[in-house]
Amino acid sequence: MTASFHAELYKLIPESHLLRKIHEVVDFSFVHELVRCSYCEYYGRPANEPELLFRLLFLQILYGLSDERMIQDAQVNLAYKWFIGLNPEEALPDASQLSRFRNHRLGASQIDELLKVIVKQCIEKGLIKSKALILDSTHSLAASQKQRALDVLRDVAKRLLRTVVKKHPKLEKKLPRQPELKKDQADAEKVMLHYLAQLGESVEILLPDHEGAISEKLQIAKQIVEDERLLANKGIMSAIDPEARFGWKSNTKSFFGYKNHIAMTEEEIITAVEVTGGSSDDGKQLPNLLKQSLELGLEVKEILGDTAYSGKDNLSKLKAHEIQAIIPLNPIVHNGGLKQEGFEYNKDADFVLCPAGEHSIRKALQGSKTSGNSRSLVFYFNVEKCKTCPLREGCYKPESKSKTYSIRIIAEQFKDHMAFEKSESFKKRMKRRPIIEHKNAELKRHHGLAKAKYRGLFRMRMQTLLTIFVVNVKRMIKLMDKMQPTS
Ligand code: SF4
Repeated sequence: MTASFHAELYKLIPESHLLRKIHEVVDFSFVHELVRCSYCEYYGRPANEPELLFRLLFLQILYGLSDERMIQDAQVNLAYKWFIGLNPEEALPDASQLSRFRNHRLGASQIDELLKVIVKQCIEKGLIKSKALILDSTHSLAASQKQRALDVLRDVAKRLLRTVVKKHPKLEKKLPRQPELKKDQADAEKVMLHYLAQLGESVEILLPDHEGAISEKLQIAKQIVEDERLLANKGIMSAIDPEARFGWKSNTKSFFGYKNHIAMTEEEIITAVEVTGGSSDDGKQLPNLLKQSLELGLEVKEILGDTAYSGKDNLSKLKAHEIQAIIPLNPIVHNGGLKQEGFEYNKDADFVLCPAGEHSIRKALQGSKTSGNSRSLVFYFNVEKCKTCPLREGCYKPESKSKTYSIRIIAEQFKDHMAFEKSESFKKRMKRRPIIEHKNAELKRHHGLAKAKYRGLFRMRMQTLLTIFVVNVKRMIKLMDKMQPTS
């Protein structure tokens, strides 16, 4: 920016202003490289634009503003305008440019770089000294409402048909017509499922070289037709957000959306993230979160987490890497999970989910108390649901009075860890784990991660990465402040 006469006004911004500190400490120039591939070399935007737009996205998350509000506020707020590199009298880009930059520029880039770049800047400044990682997950509600299976099927068929006809009006007569359903028709969902499958097949035959919006809608239709849990209202639950999933926060509280799995150092810098549908298992994310953190050059000697991470594979992996597991055992999780395919234990809700998405309604401990080797945890399912379940073959015997799922509790191989769990050092280190819950609260309460702003896993991931970038920068400034000698 060439400073204009009016730039004198920027002297009014106090030296201690957060944005001045961020501007001084954080190098935002990486953005040009990050989005280079999405700009045309000869006819692209001015070179300063990517950083300006990224700084606007940054401010937007930092202060929790919508696209329109961000532009309106930046027009009149001296500190914002100085931070994005404009003179006071210069105009801001249109609000639509923000979403275009987010979706088409950042969206086409290696978006994971956002996290790597900021963690590397923290490492270079000597801000990360701890050799411990703390793991946890936090959920974000989907941007769409969950729907009944019949509504999902209807909507997806309607959208596919509309997209095809809009581009190829002549095909309208060749495509199967949506069936007329009676009110309360018992097999309405099956009829619609059959119609959607038929419609998808016809589109593929008539348009073998389909692309763009048609391919996208066709892909969703296929996913839905193949989703065995759909008719039980447990799989895909939104025609416009098919990657969002139903998950559990506790035994009684559920949510529809996504999960953000994070790893954080004791300095409260987030070093790794994975975003999944709401139904995913936290424990399975440990290897990936560890790998991401190690690839950044961090030394990891301890991992702190709740019982969800106490799976046998996780504990063995940590042992092989000589990493101490500060993770309390859960007999169900650490025995390697469930053996029958499709059954999943949910640690937050403490129940088992079956392949049809039904959860166990109670559990009981069976076997001799004196012999740990022969004890089992038995989970009971609602047989009324099993009787009409589309997946009952091989799972539930007709006329059976109960449907159970048992897990043997084998304590032997975890003796060492069980003894360690009782030690004072374990208990002391475990007290550090809750700091990640404060970080989750910060992400959600102050920076909008409680709810997805956009639909789809990819956009959720982008929102999460941008939000983490912002909270890491905030933390970086705090740590730098602490390093300053007090006068
Ligand atoms: S039969 Fe019962 S336990 Fe088996 S998948 Fe169906 S609802 Fe679940």
